[in-house]
Amino acid sequence: MYKPPVNRMDTHQAYAAAHPERFAATDSCVQCGLCLPHCPTYLQTRQEGDSPRGRVSLIQALARGDLPADARLTEHLESCLVCRACEDMCPSRVPYASLLDAARAELLDRGARPPVRPLESWLLRQFTHSRRFRYLMRVCLRAWRHGGPWRLSRFTGIDRLMGAGRLHSLLPPMQKTTLVETDNPPNQDPDQSENAGEVQLFTGCASEVFDQETLISARQVLTRLGYRVHIPVAQTCCGALHLHAGDEAGAQTLARENQAAFRTDLPILSTASGCGATLKDSTAWCGEDSREMANATEDICAFLQRADWSRASLLPTTLRVAVHTPCSLKRVMHSDDAVTQTLARLPGIELLEVAHNGRCCGAAGRYMIDHPEMADALVADKVADLAKMAPDILVSSNVGCALHIRAALQRAGLSIEVVHPVNLIARRLAPLAASRPVA
Ligand code: SF4
Ligand code: SF4
Repeated sequence: MYKPPVNRMDTHQAYAAAHPERFAATDSCVQCGLCLPHCPTYLQTRQEGDSPRGRVSLIQALARGDLPADARLTEHLESCLVCRACEDMCPSRVPYASLLDAARAELLDRGARPPVRPLESWLLRQFTHSRRFRYLMRVCLRAWRHGGPWRLSRFTGIDRLMGAGRLHSLLPPMQKTTLVETDNPPNQDPDQSENAGEVQLFTGCASEVFDQETLISARQVLTRLGYRVHIPVAQTCCGALHLHAGDEAGAQTLARENQAAFRTDLPILSTASGCGATLKDSTAWCGEDSREMANATEDICAFLQRADWSRASLLPTTLRVAVHTPCSLKRVMHSDDAVTQTLARLPGIELLEVAHNGRCCGAAGRYMIDHPEMADALVADKVADLAKMAPDILVSSNVGCALHIRAALQRAGLSIEVVHPVNLIARRLAPLAASRPVA
């Protein structure tokens, strides 16, 4: 088992003296504790070190050289979900997420976090940079998921014996069709001589592999509303995986690549609120280099909420739909009600808000894989609420939350479909001939 090295105090003090600005904001915490009842990890463990106040103190002590970067301190900081519920409640406006990103980067610099293995590093690079790799990964995962081996290994329990049970349970059903990247979507209604405008779609690594249906639906809905949808081929990962791993420099490189890939005079629409939030918040760790891209980034439901829908007809539905609001959509994109307001356009739909919606479900990027016990404890409340509500469908605007909640529902034996809101809209679009105005 990897044991982080214990640093010498004089090294800490030298570092703190050289980088005073990185952790200066820890001084703004007045230790009031108002954040504690809103912190999911503190509510589970009741340990001060797992609370926002405790973590701010640990970061401060780390920066001042009062505490070594040992395994205990590292674990308290690693167990944070970065859900930012504490930021919402803090009267001193402590920039908690920025502090934690900086602390994790420093722990990596000091060798207090396990170094990324060469194979892991290569896989991350391929996953975030190579569209061909993601395509092949998707083909293999789909063959595994929908072929005999997946069912056989689930049935016999071999996957659990191999330690792959958790990853297996997260694998969603995957449709065969993929989004073909082109500037001129083939399903553009030829009768629409005038565009409503132009938009750009941010596809995201995880969505390209696990959630092609949402990308296809997003383009379909936007096109039907009359928008010309650009999907720049030079776009790359949002940088969230790098930030979670403490690799700020890697995330900055990606942000600059995305800033160059997208036009900043057109909206950049994200279908995964985790990716959208990372792009939106990128100035916090990338500075002015990504300012224009951050300003242009918007969640697709927030965009659809104020779009002109007169060109599309929607079929009625009798579905009871529960709405999950990801932390990233609420606290970074500030679009809490965008999903409800947009779905309310579907005639006949019954919308239900999931109780505990303000509390993180435990997905949090890689957190659901790295901290399975805490992630499962956090999603249990939502599963219990959904069991009582018994909706037909649960919608979530973040691919990671959808994977995590879907797996938890399956483990609990609940057959509630989990989809992105735009999938629901795409399914209720009237056929083109029916939606054209009568001359
Ligand atoms: S970001 Fe979330 S998990 Fe982390 S300290 Fe704040 S409230 Fe707690
Ligand atoms: S609410 Fe803000 S100021 Fe108060 S303890 Fe929490 S982080 Fe510190």
